[in-house]
Amino acid sequence: MASLPETIARILRTNPDALIACHVAPDGDCLGASLALAMACERAGVRAVVGSADGVPETYRYLHGSDRIITTPPDHQFSVGVAMECSSLERAGTFAEALTRCSTLINIDHHLSNAGYGNIVYWDTSAAAVGEQVYGIIQAMGTQITPEIAQCLLAAIVTDTGSFRYPNTSPKTLRLAADLVDAGASVHTVVERVYETRSAASLRLIGRALNNLTISADGRIAWTVITPEVLRETGALPEDTTGIVGMLRQVRGVKVALLFEVTPAGIRVGIRSRDAARANVIAETFGGGGHKGAAGFTMPGPLEDVIARTLAAVEKELAGV
Ligand code: AMP
Ligand code: MN
Repeated sequence: MASLPETIARILRTNPDALIACHVAPDGDCLGASLALAMACERAGVRAVVGSADGVPETYRYLHGSDRIITTPPDHQFSVGVAMECSSLERAGTFAEALTRCSTLINIDHHLSNAGYGNIVYWDTSAAAVGEQVYGIIQAMGTQITPEIAQCLLAAIVTDTGSFRYPNTSPKTLRLAADLVDAGASVHTVVERVYETRSAASLRLIGRALNNLTISADGRIAWTVITPEVLRETGALPEDTTGIVGMLRQVRGVKVALLFEVTPAGIRVGIRSRDAARANVIAETFGGGGHKGAAGFTMPGPLEDVIARTLAAVEKELAGV
C-alpha cells in the first residue's frame, strides 16, 4: 500500500494545478514548507500558487518565491488544495472557502489537534516541522531538491525547532537538516534573517512588553499585554510580537508564559510552556490549538475577562502537573 507522502505525491503529479494555503499569521515553517512544495510542483509541471491571508512577514521575504504569494483568494477553481498546518480549515482564514472548492483537499499538519477535514489527511505529530512532512512528499514526487527548495525546507525546520533547541528536535530532524545543507541550504542564512535581524521599532516593542511583565501563581505564570496603542507608540508591526512570549518563559520558575495581544480579530493569546505543563491543552479550552510547548487561541474581549479566564485555565493545568 502506498504511504501518505506517496499518495499525496501521486495526486499532485497527476493534477494540473494546486492551491497551497498557509494558516493565518504564517510562520517560517508554514511559509517554507508551502514555498518548497510549490517549487517542487512547478518542477513537475504542475501549476502551484501559494496563498497567505495575512501575507508574508518581512523576516521571510528572503525565501525564494515569497514575492509571488497571493493574499486575496483566487476565483479560479484549483484541482488540488493543500491546507498547510491548519488544524482546522478556518485557520486558513480567507483562503478556507477557496480550499473547499478544490476537487481534492489535502490536509497536512503536525499540531497535536487536527479536525481531520479534507480528502487526504496527512497528520503526523512526531514531525518537528510540517517542513519535514513536505520533504518526504517532495522525495516521493521524485523531484530534485534544488538549493532554493532546500533553503525553504531548512527555514521551516530551523524555525519550528527554535534553531534545534526545542525538545521536538529528533535525530531524524538533524539528519534531514544535514541533507538540506548538503543540497545547498544554509543554517546561518536562516538564523541571520530570522533571529539576528530586527527593526529598531520591534526592539522598542520588546522593551515595552518586558517592562509590563506580570508574574502570577507564585512565580509559575509570566504574562504581558500588547495593545494597538503600544504598537503605534513604538512604530512596531503586529508581526513584531513574534518571539516575545518565548522570552517570558525564560524567567526562572515560570511554567507557562502568556502574551495577550489586542487585535481587530479579538484577543490573540500566545502560550509557551515547559516541563509537564501543556500549552495545547490550555489553548484547546478556548477553541485554539498547537503543540505541547507552544500554542495559541483568539477570542473576543474584553481584555480583562480574557486574562482572568486564561489565568484560571492555566492554574487548572498547573494543578494537575
Ligand atoms: P504562535 O503563538 O502564534 O507562535 O503559535 C504557537 C503555535 O500554536 C503555532 O504552532 C500555531 O500554529 C498554534 N496556534 C496559534 N493560534 C492557534 C489557533 N487559534 N488555533 C490553532 N492553533 C493555533
Ligand atoms: Mn509548524
